[in-house]
Amino acid sequence: MNHPSTCRVGTVEKRPAGRYAPSPSGDLHLGNLRTALLAWMFARTTDRAFMMRVEDLDRVRPGSEQRQLDDLAKVGIEWDSPVMRQSQRLPHYDAVINDLRERGLTYECFCTRREILEAPSAPHAAAGAYPGTCRDLSASARQAKIDAGRPPAIRLRCDRDEFTVVDTVQGPYTGAIDDFVLRRGDGVVAYNLAVVIDDDAQGVDQVVRGDDLLSSAPRQSYLADLLGLPAVTYAHVPLVLNTDGKRLAKRDGAVTLEDLARTGVDAQQVLSLIAESLGLGGPGERISAQTMLGRFDPQTLPKHPWRIEPAELC
Ligand code: GLU
Repeated sequence: MNHPSTCRVGTVEKRPAGRYAPSPSGDLHLGNLRTALLAWMFARTTDRAFMMRVEDLDRVRPGSEQRQLDDLAKVGIEWDSPVMRQSQRLPHYDAVINDLRERGLTYECFCTRREILEAPSAPHAAAGAYPGTCRDLSASARQAKIDAGRPPAIRLRCDRDEFTVVDTVQGPYTGAIDDFVLRRGDGVVAYNLAVVIDDDAQGVDQVVRGDDLLSSAPRQSYLADLLGLPAVTYAHVPLVLNTDGKRLAKRDGAVTLEDLARTGVDAQQVLSLIAESLGLGGPGERISAQTMLGRFDPQTLPKHPWRIEPAELC
């Protein structure tokens, strides 16, 4: 893996960084903790700083942020710089949306989710792609929609329908992109916009996250390119699945540190289980995050999901 040199962000020299960016919508489960540890190990083994960012623009559950940060610290993850919170960065997102608007790269969209689903899709468009209904509305059609009182979303005027990223785990990945939303009709800034701006602001040039987000990478990479931001390196890592092959979730039973502690499994044992799942520890071996880090080699990262039956952990 290449070691980064210092990069320039705006006018400030920043040490290149990796990051973990949880949404504070509930407690982290084993899968989230495993992804966070991987992101931290990818960063630390490549001389990068490690940043924490709370993605609290939407779906915030009170108390969740602090519990998430406490749990990340309990498994041995440490981060540099104060935690960034997206809710404190709204003027930055506004400025970028304004800039794109001035460049003629945005438009207002009045469509409801249902109208989008029911609209005939454009020829050759990927399934689920925005059909472009509001792309070229006449002034009178636009005015009629405004008069009908529907608050518009802001979409990006995108000039292609696919974009390729190179992922260090998955290889080259070409995914569909469309006129995606930058700001929702209810005023909330879209994840795809905020993530790109914030990664740049934190000096992040290495994005390690669950492979459920791989399909978002082409949109984000395209947007970064439009904004003249440097491309990041992606590593989308395999998820943790339950025995039905579904993404691990709270409803699967004891999957958070708190649940597991109640059944007698402490944070240290959780770390050992995660280490074992990654081939970084033997069965039952007590291990610290630092020891795991010393053994980590991105080349030997398992390429398949970790399947667990939570009841068997206790
Ligand atoms: N906040 C997102 C989540 O918790 C992750 C976003 C990202 O890593 O880009 O699913």
